[in-house]
Amino acid sequence: MTDSRRPPDVDRIAASRRAVAARRERAALKRDVTTRVITPQELLRRALADPDSAAGAMRVPEFLTAIPAVGEGKRDRILAELAISPVKRLGGLGARQRRDLREFLDRRWPEPQPRPGRSRLVVLAGPTAVGKGTVAAQIQATHPEIHLSVSATTRPPRPGEVEGEHYFFVDDAEFDRMIAAGELLEHATVHNRFRYGTPRGPIEKVLTDGGTALLEIDLQGARQVRAADPSAVLVFLLPPSWDELVHRLVGRGTEDAEERARRLRTARTELAAQGEFDYRVVNDDVASAAEQVVAVASR
Ligand code: 5GP
Repeated sequence: MTDSRRPPDVDRIAASRRAVAARRERAALKRDVTTRVITPQELLRRALADPDSAAGAMRVPEFLTAIPAVGEGKRDRILAELAISPVKRLGGLGARQRRDLREFLDRRWPEPQPRPGRSRLVVLAGPTAVGKGTVAAQIQATHPEIHLSVSATTRPPRPGEVEGEHYFFVDDAEFDRMIAAGELLEHATVHNRFRYGTPRGPIEKVLTDGGTALLEIDLQGARQVRAADPSAVLVFLLPPSWDELVHRLVGRGTEDAEERARRLRTARTELAAQGEFDYRVVNDDVASAAEQVVAVASR
C-alpha cells in the first residue's frame, strides 16, 4: 500500500529543484541590492507587487543585511524600531509595516530624484560594459535630431572606425593643445590608458540653436560636466542585474583572474556613484533603454 500523504519521488525532486532555484533567485536579488544595481526601495516595490516572487519570499532580515552598510547589529535595531518580526517575509508585511519600512528606507537611503529646470545637455554614463556605446548608437540611428557628441581621443582607431564620425583621433601633443586652448568641455584618462575629451564648440552651437546634445562619456567626465554646467542632465545606465554585468564584463573569458577581479571592483565603485545622477535607466533591452534616454532628453 502507498502512503497517500507522501508525495511521489518525482514531485519531491521537482519541489526541491524549485526551492534551490528560488534560493538562487533571492541570492541574485540580494547581490543586486548590495552592489547598488537596484535600490532597496525597488526590491521592496517588486516584493509588494508580487508577494509570490523571489523578492516577495525574501525574509526582512535578509533584505536588510543586503543593503550596503547594514550589518547584523544595525539590522536588529531596524527590526526593533519598525516592530517587524525577523521571520516576516517582504511579501507578507502588513500595511503599516510596509509604510514604515518604505519611509525608513527613504529617510536613510533616499532614491535619486529628477531635478527640474534642466538643460538640453544630456550626459549618458554608467559602469564599464553596461552598453553605453550601443545605447548611444541606437539613439543616433533612431533620433538624428539629437546631436551625439564626437570625442577627441589619443587612442588609435580600431578597424572600421572613421575619423570625425566615431572619434577625432589626435596625438598627445594635439590633445595637450586642445586642453590649453580651452577647447574641451571635459577630459579624462580612461582605464589608465588613453585620453578622451568632449570638444566644446559643437556642443555650444547645438545648445545655442535650441537642440539637444548627448555625451556618452565616462564617470570622471560626467562629474566635470556637472561642475561646468550644473543644469546638465545626468543619466546613469544600469545593467538589469549584477550577475548580468559580471557576465558582460568577464563573459568573454579573455582576461586573467586578476584583471577580472579588477574590473569587478571598478564596476562596484562605478555603481556606487549613481546617486550623483538625475535619472537611472536599466539597459535590459537596447531599444527601450534608448527610448527612455530620449524621453529624459526631450522633457
Ligand atoms: P572606447 O575606447 O572603448 O571607445 O571608449 C572607452 C571609454 O571612454 C568609454 O567608457 C567611453 O564612455 C569613454 N569616453 C569616450 N569619449 C569620452 C570623452 O569625450 N570623455 C570622457 N570622459 N570619456 C569618454
